[in-house]
Amino acid sequence: MKALVYHGPGQKNWEDVPDPKIQEPTDAVVRIDSATICGTDLHILKGDVPEVKPGTILGHEAVGTVVETGSAVTTLEVGDRVLISCITSCGRCSFCKEQRYGLCTGGGGWIFGHLIDGLQAEYARVPFADTSVYRVPDELTDEQVLFLADILPTAYEVGVLNGDVGPGDTVVVVGAGPIGLATIMTARLYTPGRIVAIDLADSRLAQAIEFGADVTINNGREDAVARVFELTDGLGADVAVEAVGVPETFELCADLVRPGGRVANVGVHGHPATLHLEKLWIRDVTMKTGLVDTFTTPRLLKLIAEGRLDATPFATHRFPLDETLSAYDTFAAAAETHALKVVLEAEPAAHAAVPGEEALAVAGA
Ligand SMILES: [Zn+2]
Ligand SMILES: [Zn+2]
Repeated sequence: MKALVYHGPGQKNWEDVPDPKIQEPTDAVVRIDSATICGTDLHILKGDVPEVKPGTILGHEAVGTVVETGSAVTTLEVGDRVLISCITSCGRCSFCKEQRYGLCTGGGGWIFGHLIDGLQAEYARVPFADTSVYRVPDELTDEQVLFLADILPTAYEVGVLNGDVGPGDTVVVVGAGPIGLATIMTARLYTPGRIVAIDLADSRLAQAIEFGADVTINNGREDAVARVFELTDGLGADVAVEAVGVPETFELCADLVRPGGRVANVGVHGHPATLHLEKLWIRDVTMKTGLVDTFTTPRLLKLIAEGRLDATPFATHRFPLDETLSAYDTFAAAAETHALKVVLEAEPAAHAAVPGEEALAVAGA
């Protein structure tokens, strides 16, 4: 089969690799129907995630069809359409028993495209299949559920739930990339009083309005702290969500939050940030960090099925799966292409060449 293989910092290729096989009785093999690229994949390619060994297939977000199951898999059958999430769960460790799958110590957690081969491929081996994939209802398209593989539960759990967003709150989201926009989208489930989006790019702020922000601030031109204090009678935001992952935006969130407010960090940080305890100690501020656990994926899937949540606007560009390299170029140049998520689409299984049919067609001709 073909797959997108990481060959060390700055190097990747779409190339022939061996087909994945069942290795453990709890594994399944899935044909990838739709996949997408994540900001984390770009971090890996920069060399920021050294645990990823050269030779690893990248990708941790996909929808596919089960083609083979191990002998211990009991809840999945060949032909089932499934969402394959960025987080795998062994189902048995103490963290999995508390639904904290992101911290799984039994071989799960974030493993795809990280510690094992990932999902930007024609096929993938899925460990702990029974406890790690989600069956996709027939009436939903791949694109409707694909972003449940990472950005939606990440923004919802680590931003909205950790930030304890409530009715009437002023919620400030710093960073209006895909994760920030998903935070805006899922914060609206709680009827906040006002959602404020802060970014340096006007194009992203325009997208933030489309995703449900009420106020935008370009902090390259305006003093974000002054504007937020003006909007909140001098108090600050009830909730500040960090969705960038650099020290400046984390420190900005700490400056924006009101006494007794909450800061939720969603960004992936590579450098230390300063925690101004000399200002914060007296302000009763709660700060939370986290990796997604995906315990809310079934709830988000239900909201999508009921038409209460529509994640399809994240899909700004589409490429055939075998043009994954071009998709990476478009995604990496988001400042120019305005890409949010690029969808990699495999040829529909029904149309894929089956050797027997090809022979028939030739015979018929
Ligand atoms: Zn991701
Ligand atoms: Zn576990």
